Amino acid sequence: MTRTGIGYDSHRFAPGRRLVLGGVTIPHPEGLVGHSDADVVAHALTDAILGAAGAGSIGALFPDTDARWKDADSIALLREAYATVRQRGFTFVQCDITVITEAPKIGPHAAAMATCIAEALGASAADVNVKGKTNEGMGFIGRRECRAAIAVATLERR
Ligand code: MG
Repeated sequence: MTRTGIGYDSHRFAPGRRLVLGGVTIPHPEGLVGHSDADVVAHALTDAILGAAGAGSIGALFPDTDARWKDADSIALLREAYATVRQRGFTFVQCDITVITEAPKIGPHAAAMATCIAEALGASAADVNVKGKTNEGMGFIGRRECRAAIAVATLERR
């Protein structure tokens, strides 16, 4: 049996803060505000994986009121969330992620993000698709107030 989950996340721009997307540190003048490393890609995917397993949400598992998750490596959180999902009998099949941001360009970093995410899930990078979109200058993403990511994940239960 296969099950599908969806995840969404957004974080505000933070000039001078380190930018981490999909576990990859990208040299860029504007990072993102967050209690953890503010990795919108890892957060959206974690919610998609938890959702597919009916296992709640990243906010329930790693509350931002908990000092343990301050500046946390979100790929480590993804790994931990996936361990929870595996305990429920699910294994990762495939995911597709769209990062919505005016900058930086996602394409040049997509393969590195897929490799990093796949490693965390014990999966093949071929089963992790990462792509970027701009918001064509419109709205809060277009005004560079935030970046967002949407993820869909498929899991299999044996
Ligand atoms: Mg988040």
